[in-house]
Amino acid sequence: MSSRCWEEKCHRCGLCCHEKVLYGDQLVIDLDSWCEFFDPKTKQCTVYAERFVRSVRCKKMTRLRAMFAPYLAPSCAYVEWARQKGLRFAKDRHLRLIHSKTCPSEDSDDPIYNVF
Ligand code: SF4
Ligand code: SF4
Repeated sequence: MSSRCWEEKCHRCGLCCHEKVLYGDQLVIDLDSWCEFFDPKTKQCTVYAERFVRSVRCKKMTRLRAMFAPYLAPSCAYVEWARQKGLRFAKDRHLRLIHSKTCPSEDSDDPIYNVF
């Protein structure tokens, strides 16, 4: 598969550019916190061509990550690809989306909220 075909699989949902944490059997993604280079309006990376140079936290999406990375949302196109191939080996986790800034009271007594 060419790298272009691989990149075109992406749904461009931007979930992988948000802050996230694994908490027990949950993958918690904060929809109110994101990478400094992420544009929440377009859900696009503003430095895409040089993202790995500009951000040390930005990780290239490889087949191995699609297969094993626990921090990817179940809806991620690469997780779906791995699952369809029978190659998804990361533990299934329940996806929990939170809004730490706009709805903080919702989780204010929850230890998950304090992780961010
Ligand atoms: S640098 Fe990486 S993590 Fe940050 S917005 Fe761009 S693609 Fe997302
Ligand atoms: S979570 Fe997956 S599908 Fe969504 S933007 Fe990131 S790599 Fe693409």
